[in-house]
Formats: sequence, C-alpha cells, structure tokens
Amino acid sequence: MHSFQSIFLAALILAFGLKLWLLLRQMRHVWEHRAVPPAVFAARITLEEHRKAADYTLTKARLGLLHLVVEAGLLLAFTLGGGLQWLNDLLVPQLSPLFAGTALLLALFLIGALVELPLNLYQQFGIEARFGFNRQTAAGFVGDLVKQTLLGLLIGGPLILLVLWLMGVMGEAWWIWVWGVWMRFNLLVLMLYPTLIAPLFNKFTPLEDSALKARIEALLRRAGFTASGVFVMDGSRRSSHGNAYFTGLGKNKRIVFFDTLLKQLNPEQIEAVLAHELGHFKHHHIVKRIALMFVLSLGLLAVLAWLKQAPWFYAGLGVATPSDAAALALFFLALPVFLFPITPLMSLYSRKHEFEADAFAANHSEPEHLITALVRLYRDNAATLTPDPVYSLFYDSHPKAVERIAKLEYYGQAITAPQRA
Ligand SMILES: [Zn+2]
Repeated sequence: MHSFQSIFLAALILAFGLKLWLLLRQMRHVWEHRAVPPAVFAARITLEEHRKAADYTLTKARLGLLHLVVEAGLLLAFTLGGGLQWLNDLLVPQLSPLFAGTALLLALFLIGALVELPLNLYQQFGIEARFGFNRQTAAGFVGDLVKQTLLGLLIGGPLILLVLWLMGVMGEAWWIWVWGVWMRFNLLVLMLYPTLIAPLFNKFTPLEDSALKARIEALLRRAGFTASGVFVMDGSRRSSHGNAYFTGLGKNKRIVFFDTLLKQLNPEQIEAVLAHELGHFKHHHIVKRIALMFVLSLGLLAVLAWLKQAPWFYAGLGVATPSDAAALALFFLALPVFLFPITPLMSLYSRKHEFEADAFAANHSEPEHLITALVRLYRDNAATLTPDPVYSLFYDSHPKAVERIAKLEYYGQAITAPQRA
C-alpha cells in the first residue's frame, strides 16, 4: 500500500475512534447523572426538566453515532473508493478545465449535503418535534434548503472559479494570491451577513420595547455601542430554542436576540444577556477570531501548495489524474481528519472568550440576573447540565453551566461585598 495512503487511513481511524469514544463517554455520563441534577441547580430546576435534558442529549447523541459512520463512509467513498476520480472523469470531457474543476467542487458539496439531508430531516422532524422544539413546516424546510443551495452556488461558484484561475495563472506564488482573495471574501461576508444574507432567512426588527429601552440604552452607552445595533430575530418560525448572538463588523455590527429568548426572560435578565454579548464586542472577539483564522489559513494554503505538486498526495487518496481542482477537493476532504486533534484548542479559545464576556457582564449588570437567565436558557433548551468532562473539554464552545455559574456567583460576591462594607 502507498505510504501516504497508510498515513491517511491511520489518521482517519484515529479520528473516528476518538470521536466515537468521546460520544460514548458523553452518553454514559449523561445517563449516569440522569437521576439527580447537580447540587447547584437543585433549587433552580425540577427533576423532570433535568431528565428531559438528559433524554434530549442522549437522543441527539444516538443520531450523532450514525452521523459519524455516514461522514467516514462518505469520505472513504470520495477518496479511496474512487468517487472523486469518477466525478472527474464524468465532468472533464464535457467542460473546459476551469469550469470542470468548479463543477467538480460544487458537485462534491452538493453530494455531501444530499447524503446528510435524511439525517437533518430526522433531526428536525423526528427529534426536535418529539421534544417539542420544532416550529418548522415541511414547506419552510424545503424553502430554506432551496435558498441555502442557491446562495451556496451563487457565492461559492464564482469564488471557486476565481481560486482555480489564480492557481492556474499565478505560478509558484498562487497561494499568496488565493490567501488575499480568501481574506477579502471572508471580510466581505462578515460585513454583508447581518444586512444582506441573514435577512434572506429571518426577519430582523430593531428592539423597541419601552420597558426595556431606557435600561438597554443606558447599558449601550456605558459600553460605547451604537444604540441602533440591537435587533430581534423571528427565530420562533423554525424552533422554540432561544439564543442571542453578536455578529458583523464595523458599522454593520449587531447584537441579535431571538424572539423566543425575549419571551423566556424578564427585563433584568435580558439586560444581563445583552451585557454578555457586549462583552464579546468590547473584547474584540470577532476581530481576534478573524486574525487567528487568517494566520491559520495562510499556513494551510502553504501546505496545500506543497501537496499540490506531490504525486503521492493524489495517488494516496485515490485520484489518478492530478489537477488543481482535485488538489483542492482532496485537501478539503482530508483536512478535517488531520486537524481533528486540535479541536480542543479551538474550543478552549472559545471558552476563554465566553468567560471574558461573562466577566464583562458581571461588571456591567447584576451577575445574579445572568445566572437566572442562563438557568432558564439551559432549562428551556433542554441543554444538559452534566456533560462528560472530557467530551466537554474537546467540543464545548461554552464553559460548563456549573463552572459559569460558580464564577458568576464569585463575581457577585466580590462585587457586592466591598459595597456592603
Ligand atoms: Zn457568549
């Protein structure tokens, strides 16, 4: 067997085994803690709510097991199974090299999405519906799917075409050019997302609740955020899960509340959640993430430039006719397998930002309100309060509920104690 093929297979087995082990750990841990909520939450949630969260987590995890198998099967089918070569042989005789390459990459994404479609359907209309979270209709689901696919083709098509063209004409330094395009593309998407892309899927209205307004405006002024940047999104048309997020760049930055979240929380709690989102803004978390992504993508493109010239890269992954498009496709397919071991680092980085945002919120609003808001969110979203520690370390973008609340309680005491004295 080709030696790179052996390395790829070993990495794939390692990543698959690791994912399986983590998911099984998570399932066992949640199951073992299903009978009793953690002590901190004993007074805050009922046993029934705690059990619902455990059952919801376990049901999703079982689908996750199937997802692991489908994902690995698809990857093997495209690479060693000869799927990519087959697609290549189908498209290359029909089109010019540039368009055949673009079609190859788009076909790859479309086939991947098609294979995952039944899983997504089951997630939405099986699991989410069973636990009372689904608000999506079949027509709405199809509408979203059509819009997402068209948008993907409309944005992805020209981008791939441009990248392949640069790879063909820019000589040795093509990857620096591609990096420049990739940077600009990402900044553009981030800038246009809140005002152009997100409104294709949801309605956004400025937050104008008179009971909230004065409270929120005072907070925004303290944080130096433009008052026009807070919006409500009609998340309730798809799901009853509540959330809030911070997005955009420059003048287009926005804090978005799901309408479902506003219904779940009282004004004090909303203020505390807003303060948390403002913490992300004040600490420049989006900018820091982009900077990190740019550095990483430059490194990865340099690796791709090296692999593109190596015959063993194609042969080891089941492609007999090297081309720029095949190099890109194989890189996208195989990269997650090799990058999986760094997942915990990315999660750690994200959790660091969440702690920073919580600390900001504790300073600019009442920690106790953020605690009660978080508990409501965990409860209403049936999110587990007892994840497996190793699973959580690996995947969780947010710190564990118990840790977040312990820290907020500490801030609450630290802030109020001297004031009392
Ligand atoms: Zn956050």
